[in-house]
Amino acid sequence: MERIAIYPGSFDPVTSGHLEIIRRSARLFDKIIVVVMTNYRKTGSYAFSVDERVELIRKCIGDLPNVSVDSYMGLLADYAKKTGATAIVKGLRAVSDFEDEFQQALINKKLNGDVETVFLAASSEHMFLSSSVIKQVCQLGGDISLFIPKEISQEVIEKIKKG
Ligand code: ADP
Repeated sequence: MERIAIYPGSFDPVTSGHLEIIRRSARLFDKIIVVVMTNYRKTGSYAFSVDERVELIRKCIGDLPNVSVDSYMGLLADYAKKTGATAIVKGLRAVSDFEDEFQQALINKKLNGDVETVFLAASSEHMFLSSSVIKQVCQLGGDISLFIPKEISQEVIEKIKKG
């Protein structure tokens, strides 16, 4: 049986930290689906539309044949059922990520008993990165090109600066 994992997030925009998690999980599973979701707590504060976020991720995964990108506006547990995924991949940066992620893992397990949440520890190189910090630094004129995959850095910087 093919082992399918989904990697959900807002990806507004995708960062080098996200891409590292994608690369590492692509070695652990037969197939990874990166799924762009809408977080109701963040609605209204997105810099990129869902379609733009999907396109940006696509531009970064060209060398990874077992990774695809999709978007979904609903329950992750349902999306896992629909795609036949048996794992949800999450990256953990710090203790502060843990409480929320643990709660989500438990609720997803209740909603879909066939899916396991798998946590990958962020690398020391990327553990300080988040999409929101990158947007803030860029808006204030800081150079974010090291934090964004090089395939998309120019495009992302221009769009964030335009606002
Ligand atoms: P952000 O917190 O940057 O807005 P998302 O909501 O898009 O990110 O996050 C999607 C997933 O990627 C989550 O599991 C999150 O913990 C993980 N993640 C985000 N940034 C990093 C990073 N720098 N290293 C490892 N995992 C990360």
